[in-house]
Amino acid sequence: MLHSPDPRIALSWVIQDIHTKGWAPGTGGNFSQVIQRDPLRLLMAPSGVDKGLVQPGDLIEVDAQGQVVDGEGKASAETLLHLAIVEVAGAGAVLHTHSVFNTLLSMHYAPQGAIAIAGYEMLKGLQGITTHDSTLPLPILPNSQDMGQLSDEIKSHLGADRQSYGFLLAGHGLYAWGDTLFQARRHLEILEFLLELTYRKLTLSSQ
Ligand SMILES: [Zn+2]
Repeated sequence: MLHSPDPRIALSWVIQDIHTKGWAPGTGGNFSQVIQRDPLRLLMAPSGVDKGLVQPGDLIEVDAQGQVVDGEGKASAETLLHLAIVEVAGAGAVLHTHSVFNTLLSMHYAPQGAIAIAGYEMLKGLQGITTHDSTLPLPILPNSQDMGQLSDEIKSHLGADRQSYGFLLAGHGLYAWGDTLFQARRHLEILEFLLELTYRKLTLSSQ
């Protein structure tokens, strides 16, 4: 994995690893990697596949409109959200999970519109953060089944802040991204860690 692995092998390995961690049960979640910028090509898992079983040859390629241009199967409805993040945040890979902790906290903090996470050494795993003495505002956007509308909201929200790592959709899950697949994976792992910590701190302080 150290020397520019084949993108299909790398992405299917990352998907299976995320599934093993319990962050994408069943067919939940979706994962994409930019393999070409002009014209844009995203490598991603097709809709409705079990994320524990995705093989390199199962991955599809989609264009800037979310149309499948190579491979078998349909693109997920959430492809539009991946495309919005790639376009506005300049992401090279987007990882979307449905973990217990991110789902629960996205609902709990939805009225505030964000979760503020501060003071932890693990914040330094996020690109550009160099001290534990930092506050990460993790935005929470309302969930919707209208992907066109949600993608417009994401674009206007991210437009104000290009130095971002992820956001939550209320009652739904987490989107995390990075310049490369493995930076996106690192950001996802850090955010899932910080969210689990936030949940456990809440239960600790309620005792
Ligand atoms: Zn989802």
